[in-house]
Amino acid sequence: MVSFQDFHLQRKRMVEKQLIPRGIKDPRVLNAMQKVPRDRFVEKALAVEAYNDYPLPIGHNQTISQPYIVALMTEVLDLSGKEKTLEIGTGSGYQTAILAELSNEVYTIERIKPLLMEAKNVLTELDYKNIMFKAFDGTLGWKEYEPFDAIIVTAGAPEIPGPLLEQLAEGGRLIIPVGNRFSQELIRLKKVKGTYLEKSFGGCRFVDLIGLHGWK
Ligand code: SAM
Repeated sequence: MVSFQDFHLQRKRMVEKQLIPRGIKDPRVLNAMQKVPRDRFVEKALAVEAYNDYPLPIGHNQTISQPYIVALMTEVLDLSGKEKTLEIGTGSGYQTAILAELSNEVYTIERIKPLLMEAKNVLTELDYKNIMFKAFDGTLGWKEYEPFDAIIVTAGAPEIPGPLLEQLAEGGRLIIPVGNRFSQELIRLKKVKGTYLEKSFGGCRFVDLIGLHGWK
């Protein structure tokens, strides 16, 4: 049996050995990564691997992303704590928890209902109260609650879904992996005076974003 203390230590090592040396600097992001129990978001048999430097399976052919990628995608959203944040691809709910630590409200959408329900259970057990959940095609965004100050897409897209661009607030940030089905580039857009400033954060590999404005 691995104790709570051991997981705390593993999280500390994850921050010190995987995140800081690769350039994650924002203290708020590092604190959230140190705080959120990643071991709770994977099945029990995989909990001992939860803090290792790779993605893990979460069922339904989906994965929980590598810790570094979660930290990087969060950092480039530049969250101050006041944001209304939209997440496409709830998966295990781990990234959702990190966003909930750093935003005012999180709206998360997942197309696979059993994954969404499981994530919701864990996040409720961990006492997060600022998250709204929806089982839906996230490439359409969540029109009812637009505009969003931050949007994160945690699955690989052939192009940036138009509805997400439309639902981004002025001054808002969007991070999304864009490319083919085997490799993508992490692209961040900032909406400034109605135009989108683009910056690349390097190569990555995600599962497919499937939907009307994603892969068919
Ligand atoms: N961020 C998640 C975590 O921390 O566990 C990992 C997400 S996983 C890499 C990508 C998720 O995106 C999968 O759960 C997949 O079902 C979901 N997904 C793919 N296309 C989607 C869509 N159009 N709308 C919502 N979710 C989608």
